[in-house]
Amino acid sequence: MTFQFAVLGSGSKGNSALFRQQGAGLLIDAGLGVRLLAERLASVGSDWSHLSAVVLTHTHGDHVDTGVFRGMARRGIPLYCHEGHHQNLDRDEGFKALDRLGLVRCYDDRPFMAPSGFRVEPVTAWHDGGPTFGFRLEAGAGRKRRGVAVGYLTDTGTWCDATADALVDVDVLGVEFNHDVMMQRTSGRHPALIARNLGDRGHLSNRQAADLVSSILARSRRDRVSHLVLLHLSDQCNRPEIALREAGEAVRESGRQVLIHAARQAPAHPDLSFGPTRSAAYWKPHGAASRTARPSSARRRPSDACGFLPGLNLESS
Ligand SMILES: [Zn+2]
Ligand SMILES: [Zn+2]
Repeated sequence: MTFQFAVLGSGSKGNSALFRQQGAGLLIDAGLGVRLLAERLASVGSDWSHLSAVVLTHTHGDHVDTGVFRGMARRGIPLYCHEGHHQNLDRDEGFKALDRLGLVRCYDDRPFMAPSGFRVEPVTAWHDGGPTFGFRLEAGAGRKRRGVAVGYLTDTGTWCDATADALVDVDVLGVEFNHDVMMQRTSGRHPALIARNLGDRGHLSNRQAADLVSSILARSRRDRVSHLVLLHLSDQCNRPEIALREAGEAVRESGRQVLIHAARQAPAHPDLSFGPTRSAAYWKPHGAASRTARPSSARRRPSDACGFLPGLNLESS
């Protein structure tokens, strides 16, 4: 069975990502406008008819869109949000339309099943937008079959051991690499905004995110975490090459081979197709290289540039 994970847009101007198994897709956040969402879904071979549910991280404007909520209401697509999100959105016309149709489902901090067999585990984040969560998403598991797992965490000012534990052993790991601390400090932005972004209820810096990645890799089996996706990069206070370098150091120190992708505001990127990796025991022991799990197949456009360092692939396009 093949799965797809595509970031449709990531950054302060709008966030949405698709996790799909065969015909059914789960959308994480609805922060792109209706037209943009349709375009980005089409660009990764999908459309509205594939969406079986939307899960919401929080209610900041770059993660919600009233037009998308209306589109969901027309098509009967449920929205999974936290009870606190309900209060923040109850004046939004699109949200009200969903609510009238009984399509708003509330989650708490416990795992739940979304339509089409997606298991969703909320992961607590620390942010100033009301209750905020990342997700551990799983699909495709059967009685004798390992499924796949995707970790997705953005919009958090800090993390703790429980965060790393929740994201352990995923196949694709998406983590916010929001800003470079020095670029943030010297950005010329209002001091209150700088303090907010650097604070425990703001966003993860490249360094904080790299430390989280290190911690997750150290706890994970060697045949997991084939892809690392850097999310929510700041336009003003970060550069993909800086974030990729910090992430690359964390991966190199782990001794693993992981494809690293820097998501961006546009176009949709990366667009990965992957399946469960075989057990590490499957690979013949043959020196250090055989102890490094092979990355799952990644569908890459020809324009993607891939750098290579020993034990590390960087994809920076
Ligand atoms: Zn936010
Ligand atoms: Zn955001």
